[in-house]
Amino acid sequence: MNNNIVANLNRVKASINPSCTLIAVSKTKPSSNIAACYEAGHLDFGENKVQELAKKASELPKDIRWHMIGHLQRNKVKYIAPFVHLIHGVDSYRLLAEINKRAKNEQRTIACLLQVYIASEDTKFGFDEAEILDMLSSKEFNDLSHVKISGLMGMASNTSDKQKIRQEFNGLKRLYDKLQHKTHPLLNIEILSMGMSGDYQLAIEEGSNMVRIGSAIFGARN
Ligand SMILES: *Cc1c(COP(=O)(O)O)cnc(C)c1O
Repeated sequence: MNNNIVANLNRVKASINPSCTLIAVSKTKPSSNIAACYEAGHLDFGENKVQELAKKASELPKDIRWHMIGHLQRNKVKYIAPFVHLIHGVDSYRLLAEINKRAKNEQRTIACLLQVYIASEDTKFGFDEAEILDMLSSKEFNDLSHVKISGLMGMASNTSDKQKIRQEFNGLKRLYDKLQHKTHPLLNIEILSMGMSGDYQLAIEEGSNMVRIGSAIFGARN
């Protein structure tokens, strides 16, 4: 079982450019699966539930870089603030302000990605471009001191229409390029997190430099 997982991990790694960061999405999978990947040298893991993330972090080596990739509720930020490496799903100013507050308590700065809504499905979270630009130029944004905006994250529509997926990723890349030209002390735009098991090759072709891959490594989830 764990041998297969490590073989999958290495196969996925070999299929992406080394400059693209691979997040192994271990949600619903046991810590033993993560430990096998860690022993094979992998350090970046993604989870989408706070409790599961905190539990696994407590059981596993401290140099693992934990990525919170799911929808994050404000009242749960405190449980991951002491250790989380990158929060991918920031979808409101209020969430960002809470992350800032908890990071300050921990005397650290937490790196965040703004989640952008790119799919044509109404179940997904995220900002649109105008909302991001508004927030970045707002007075409240300047009050933040312990967060860093490191880039953008998006999820394409769950469809077999490759052209559509490509267009959605391309739209996110264009916004990413635009933000890279903005200067603000809280902005350090260098991560474009897009691409999952089914669409990561397309995402990389459209400019992704961070992919979040679960089932292609750990197998199907229940
Ligand atoms: C589950 C999840 C993934 C990984 O999905 P796979 O299709 O299993 O690769 C990536 N990103 C987010 C936000 C997820 O929730």
